[in-house]
Amino acid sequence: MQQNTGKIVKVSGPVVIADGLRGAKMYDVVQVSEGKLIGEIIELNEDKATIQVYEETSGIGPGEPVYTTNLPLSVELGPGLIKSIYDGIQRPLDIIFKNEGAFIARGVEAESLNKTIKWDFKPSVKKGDQVSAGDCLGTVPETSIITHRIMVPIGIEGAIESISEGSYKVIDTIAKIKDKSGKVHDVKMLQKWPVRKMRPYQEKMPPKEPLITGQRVIDTFFTIAKGGTACIPGPFGSGKTVVQHQLSKWCNAEIIVFIGCGERGNEMTDVLQEFPELIDPNSGKPLMERTVLIANTSNMPVAAREASVYTGITIAEYYRDMGYNVALMADSTSRWAEAMREISGRLEEMPGEEGYPAYLGTRIASFYERSGRVKCLSSKEQEATISVIGAVSPPGGDLSEPVTQNTLRTVQVYWSLQDKLAYKRHFPAIDWLKSYSLYLDQLSSYFKDEINDNYIQTRTIAMSILQEESELEETVRLVGIDALSKKERLTLDTARAIREDFLHQNAFDEIDTYTSMKKQFLMLDLIIFFHNKAREMIEKEGISNEQLNQLSVKNKIVRSKFISEDDLKEFQKIKDEIEKEIKSLASNNKGKDE
Ligand code: ADP
Repeated sequence: MQQNTGKIVKVSGPVVIADGLRGAKMYDVVQVSEGKLIGEIIELNEDKATIQVYEETSGIGPGEPVYTTNLPLSVELGPGLIKSIYDGIQRPLDIIFKNEGAFIARGVEAESLNKTIKWDFKPSVKKGDQVSAGDCLGTVPETSIITHRIMVPIGIEGAIESISEGSYKVIDTIAKIKDKSGKVHDVKMLQKWPVRKMRPYQEKMPPKEPLITGQRVIDTFFTIAKGGTACIPGPFGSGKTVVQHQLSKWCNAEIIVFIGCGERGNEMTDVLQEFPELIDPNSGKPLMERTVLIANTSNMPVAAREASVYTGITIAEYYRDMGYNVALMADSTSRWAEAMREISGRLEEMPGEEGYPAYLGTRIASFYERSGRVKCLSSKEQEATISVIGAVSPPGGDLSEPVTQNTLRTVQVYWSLQDKLAYKRHFPAIDWLKSYSLYLDQLSSYFKDEINDNYIQTRTIAMSILQEESELEETVRLVGIDALSKKERLTLDTARAIREDFLHQNAFDEIDTYTSMKKQFLMLDLIIFFHNKAREMIEKEGISNEQLNQLSVKNKIVRSKFISEDDLKEFQKIKDEIEKEIKSLASNNKGKDE
C-alpha cells in the first residue's frame, strides 16, 4: 500500500511537517519514521504536508521518512466491535494491555477487529435478490444480546450472485453482488469507513419519542428525545459518573458507545475498570455485551484524543444503520476541544476565543449533528436513532467559556449538575431551575398519547411551584416564615415534596433506581393532587398548614417512590385516602367551630 516516501522537515510535539509527499491527499493516513507512527495529514501545500501524529513523537527528527498509505483515517466495522475497548484510533486497548503492558509502545500495530475468530453467519437474502447499500445480507450473533446485521456496503447495488451460510472470519467473502455493469463485488463482514465522514442515511426526521432513562428529573422535567442531544457539565464530586452509569444501564437504547476522552489518567482507569463491571439490568448480563468503549487518557497523545470522538460516532452510526437505537456518551468533550486547541496552536493558526481555534463552534456542531432520528439507507423502511450526551468540564465551573457556550448553542437539553446539591446529598444533583429541555413541545403528543393526557400540565404546575419556592425563600430569608400566607407555606411544603419525594432518586436502591414513565407521572400527580386538595381546603375551610402536614397519608406520598411497578393501582388508593383525610379535617374543623 505504501506508494510514496516523504521526509520529515520539522517536528513540533504531535505535529510533524514533511515534504516530498506528492499525490497525498488531505486527511490521508501516513506512517511517520521507521517506527511507523500513525499520523494524519491535516494541511497540504503542494508536496509539503502537516501531519498530526497519534503517537509520542519524542526522538524523531528531520530527515526521517514518512510513508503514505493513500487512505483516510478509518475505522474497521464488523462483528467484534461490541465488548471492545479501543483507544482514539481504534487500537484495542485491552489486547495491547495484555500483550504490551500498561504503556503502549510506539508503532504498535494491533488489529481493530480480530481476523481469526469465526462468526456464524446466517443469510437473510438469496441468490438473485436485488440489494442496495444498507440492506441486510444476513445476521451474526455478536454477543448474547446483540444480533449484528451484515449490510451491503455503501456504494454497492445489484443482484446477489452467491451467498454463504456458516462460520466465517470477518475477512472471508460471504456474498458476491453483481452490479448493473456486470462487475462482481466480493462482500466481507469487515467494512471500513473514514471517521470524519458522516455515514449516509435516507432522511433525517424530527424526534418523536423520549429516550427513556428511568431517572425522574431527566424523563419528566428535562427530557432528552431519542435521537436528541444533551449536555451535562461535571464538576468533580457532583455525581457525574453515577448519572452516566445510570443512563448507560437504563436508557432504552440498545447499543451504548462510551467515549472517555482524556480525563486525568487515573479517572480513565476508573472507567476502564468500572464500566466492564456494570450489569445490564434488562438482561442480567454485563453491560459490555452491548457496549463499545473508547478510552483516551491524558497521557496518550492529544491527536488521538482529537480523533476519538469521530471514531466513537462512526461506530455509533454503523449500529444505527443496522436499525438500532444507539446512545453515545462523550466524557469529556472539553478535553477533545483542548486537543483541538493544542494542535491548532502548533499549526500557528489564528486563535479565536481563549486560544481555541476559530472553527471550534463548527466542529462541535458537526459532531452533535451526527445524532438524530433517521430513515436508514436500507430499502426496507427502517428507523433508527443516535442520541448524543456530551459532558463538558468548564474550568472553575465557568459556563461562559467557549466550549460550554458552543455546546449549549448546539444541544437541545442541558442538565445542570451542581456540586452544591451533591454536598446536600440531593441526587441526581441536577438543578431544576437552571436545566432545560427544548424537546417538550415536540414530544408533547407522545406524553399525551402514551402516558397521560395531563402529563404536560402536571409537569408545568410542578415546575412553577419550584420556581415560586425560590422566590418565596428569598422573602423568608428577609422577613421570616411568619410573613407568608397559608397558601404560600403550602407552596413551600409542596416544593419540598417535589424535590425530596420526586426529584431525589437513589441510584443504589433496588426499586428507586429506575422509574417507568407511567409511575413517574403517578408520583408527581399524587403530589399535585394533594397540593390542589389542600389549597382548596385552605381557601374554603381555613385549615392550617400544620394540620395538613400531620395527615398520615403524607407519609404514603413520601413512600410512593418505593411502590413496585407491578402495583401502580396503589396510587389511586392513596389519592382516595388523601381525599378522605382532607375531608375529615374539614369536618373536624367545622365541628370545632360550631
Ligand atoms: P463524580 O463522578 O462527579 O466525581 P460520582 O458520580 O462518583 O461523582 O458520585 C460521587 C458520590 O455521590 C457517589 O459515590 C455516591 O455516593 C453519590 N451519588 C451520586 N449520585 C447518586 C445517586 N443518584 N444516588 C445516590 N448516591 C449518589
